[in-house]
Amino acid sequence: MLPQRLHLWINPGLASRRADCSAVAMETDPTDDELAARYRPALQAEREALAAASDDTRADRAPVTLDQQSVGRLSRMDALQGQAMARGLEARRAGRMRAIAAALTRMEDGEYGWCEECGSFIGHGRLGSDPCAVRCVSCASG
Ligand SMILES: [Zn+2]
Repeated sequence: MLPQRLHLWINPGLASRRADCSAVAMETDPTDDELAARYRPALQAEREALAAASDDTRADRAPVTLDQQSVGRLSRMDALQGQAMARGLEARRAGRMRAIAAALTRMEDGEYGWCEECGSFIGHGRLGSDPCAVRCVSCASG
């Protein structure tokens, strides 16, 4: 027969091991090194893609030259409209470039991935869809 006090001695141990297991299963806060390793490549790749897109479309944003021989009134309007769109896209690219640069600076400072309002971890789901996110989902929606 198993002595009663052996049961009592075993059970708290089992309870504490179960508690340890559930703690491991929960998403724990990552370290700054883990965050940098996980999100820096995506930020750098996006920055390079934006820079390449900006270079590739430089001619589209150039001033529209008035060429009476080859460009009629309508096609000149098309050219101006195309230029305006190209400049609008470039402004959006520039804004995103600033957001990426700011994210990389936060990474250097050990502030990347932490909500700028409440200080909690922004979460991998949110950072995965936008690595430039600066607020957790509840602060961003509040
Ligand atoms: Zn927050």
